Amino acid sequence: MEKVYLDNAATTPLNEEVIDAMVSVLRDNYGNPSSTHSFGQEAKTLLEEVRRKIAEALRVTPGEIVFTSCGTESNNMIIKSCVNYLGVQRIITSPLEHKCVAETCLEMKRLNGVELVYLRPDNKANLSLEKLEELLQNSEKKTLVTLMHANNEVGNLLDLEKVAELCKKYDALFHSDTVQTMAHLDLDFSKIPVDFASCSAHKFHGPKGSGFAFVRKASGLKGIITGGPQERSLRAGTENVCGIVGLGKAWELSIDNMSEYSSHIKDIKNYCKSEIEKNFPEAKFNGESATENSLYTVLNILLPFKNPLIGLQLDMQGVAISQGSACSSGAAKPSMVLMSILDEEELENCTPLRVSFSHYTTKADIDKFISALKEVSKDFIIEKQNTEHR
Ligand code: PLP
Repeated sequence: MEKVYLDNAATTPLNEEVIDAMVSVLRDNYGNPSSTHSFGQEAKTLLEEVRRKIAEALRVTPGEIVFTSCGTESNNMIIKSCVNYLGVQRIITSPLEHKCVAETCLEMKRLNGVELVYLRPDNKANLSLEKLEELLQNSEKKTLVTLMHANNEVGNLLDLEKVAELCKKYDALFHSDTVQTMAHLDLDFSKIPVDFASCSAHKFHGPKGSGFAFVRKASGLKGIITGGPQERSLRAGTENVCGIVGLGKAWELSIDNMSEYSSHIKDIKNYCKSEIEKNFPEAKFNGESATENSLYTVLNILLPFKNPLIGLQLDMQGVAISQGSACSSGAAKPSMVLMSILDEEELENCTPLRVSFSHYTTKADIDKFISALKEVSKDFIIEKQNTEHR
């Protein structure tokens, strides 16, 4: 059976060129980048070349890029270090954040007594910047604002520049989880005064286990993993040279082809949206995922009937989708994001589906998804029609 992969917000397939670059490093560049001999220095040169490339695209200096093992580690490091070393006593965040931010904030409350304040989203998953400004005005405590750039479930985009300006105005630190947007959108950090951001290679056809944190120069941030002086002591441990080279190759391909990839993916998303509207006229779209104010890789559908087994049934038809973020997809409950934006009736009687695309996705993949969705939904639709006519 030919399979269709529509879960690219969870992770993406590796690009062939990325695999080649990584295999070559595994075979030929085994030196430790901290070693002073030529083997070490060759590995070090590879790392620095990737760092330079990333910094150039983000319009920052290479010293502001810290290689880590993933988005989760980057977000942990930033939030924990803000509390432990930069005197943060209050965190403003939202219920839309990925678990690696949400749980870290809760831990900072439990362990360090940090005050945690949530900005509540409206039913389209939008946050009020007026409310954020009010919160920033009304406290003497050193504050960290941590709000994601694009939501991984419903795709809503935050106006990074406006939030960063507000944080600057009120002397708050600003961290944004940019895991879903790095290498998908053009981010110019010479114009957006964000203090900290995060990236994960496997969201753009790079390897799992490789990412970086953007740490604004002179921020005073320290590492949370202690040991050797790697990454200017911000992240001890021998660098994952192969993973970083894979990240670098995936980054280069995504940045160089961004306009081509994004216009293809936007076409696919529009096609998927119109096929859903045509075949499931009562379906809705969650958050802003069907509008321009959303990440082009994500479409979040709300089907007008309850089928908790839909993910499994689609998988049996060869279609991989998700119902929330990968981290909570085993959970029986709807995700925090959906619980924050859907009403009780929708939570009780509807079925959410997140489909997410990459530049490898084709219209034929969408056709296969729609026909599988029709197949697994037909009994529910008939039952719903019968109930309505009774
Ligand atoms: N933040 C967001 C928004 C994500 O979507 C993810 C991955 O699902 C992460 C953080 C975690 O990244 P990683 O899988 O690299 O730890």
